[in-house]
Amino acid sequence: MSSIVYFSDMRTKRGASLPEKLERLCKELAVLKNIRKGELVAITLHFGERGNTGFIRPLFIRRIVDLIKLAGGKPFLTDANTLYRGDRSNAVDHMNVAMEHGFSYATVNAPIIIADGLRGKDYVEAPVNGKYFKKVKISSAAYHADSLISVAHVKGHMLFGFGGALKNIGMGLGARSGKQMMHADLKPEIVAKKCVGCGLCVKWCPTGSLSLFEPQGREKPLSALNPSTCIGCGECVVTCPSEAIKISWSGAPQSVQEKTVEFAWAIAKEKTGKIGAINFLTNISPDCDCMSHTDASIVPDIGMLASDDIVAIDRASIDLINQQTALLNTAVPESKLGHADKFAAIHGIDWTPQFTYAEQVGLGSAKYDLRKI
Ligand code: SF4
Ligand code: SF4
Repeated sequence: MSSIVYFSDMRTKRGASLPEKLERLCKELAVLKNIRKGELVAITLHFGERGNTGFIRPLFIRRIVDLIKLAGGKPFLTDANTLYRGDRSNAVDHMNVAMEHGFSYATVNAPIIIADGLRGKDYVEAPVNGKYFKKVKISSAAYHADSLISVAHVKGHMLFGFGGALKNIGMGLGARSGKQMMHADLKPEIVAKKCVGCGLCVKWCPTGSLSLFEPQGREKPLSALNPSTCIGCGECVVTCPSEAIKISWSGAPQSVQEKTVEFAWAIAKEKTGKIGAINFLTNISPDCDCMSHTDASIVPDIGMLASDDIVAIDRASIDLINQQTALLNTAVPESKLGHADKFAAIHGIDWTPQFTYAEQVGLGSAKYDLRKI
């Protein structure tokens, strides 16, 4: 069965500016129509890594905030902390970057709540019963919100091929250690020269797989891992204050995509009729907004999409991008300008497993009916 995806192009005229067109798109969303008075509504978005300029401008977010308020809801902006130690791996740094990028109460008319708390340890273990996980770690603020609207900047990604609503919800709202679960196919490793023997990892490990010992000739204790009991949950990675436990980025693209689908599924199944997505097909850069730079758009700006189906909206997004001719002097190699699949030409990644698995678990439909607004 096809899902409806609403589309608005980039053409404007008086009375039909881009924010006004966005408003018309949003009004089609069931998630907005279903908001009841006093409900807490999470708007999940990427505030951009420091140095990145591809993120969605606050003025668009403000339009969505105002619509939610008109419907009686109480909106807040949210994203979870990053696994990597950039400028958004704890709530304080994350909020500072968000503010530098123009997101504050004064500009967006809503509070910002970092979804997994100060250090990424505020999460709910939500049941999924998928092929990888029985439970996944979802950021508390996102899980407990009554409704959730994903606002995604669609761009390339080295593991997903591209990132849209599915990645924004699944990876974006996984708590820090949840992000490690999605990325890791390997167990963590202790980097001896960085370990200061503080014992925090031992305290936080849920399976008792870590212990301190005192190697000969070493002044401080050293942490040691028992790989046979380790479940790869990532708690130690995000807990260590000395970066002495290596983040594992070993996940193969297919498994990372499918694991991320399981996280998105865990959120979506708690929010039937209360979840929706808006995708911006603008500044379509080759890499994620987690990068500290934004490379030139690989195709011209296309428009904005809205749907109550987070799978259909992503499929429509990638199809609209691939219908474009790639621009010269971008990350698309000149020899591949005519390549039908733009992000595959850049990253060499097959992005289809996320759709196949999302349909298989019933998260949504990759078939869509595109309706121009
Ligand atoms: S990944 Fe989880 S189970 Fe394994 S050592 Fe770290 S905290 Fe313990
Ligand atoms: S938390 Fe880090 S520094 Fe402390 S004992 Fe564990 S590995 Fe070593």
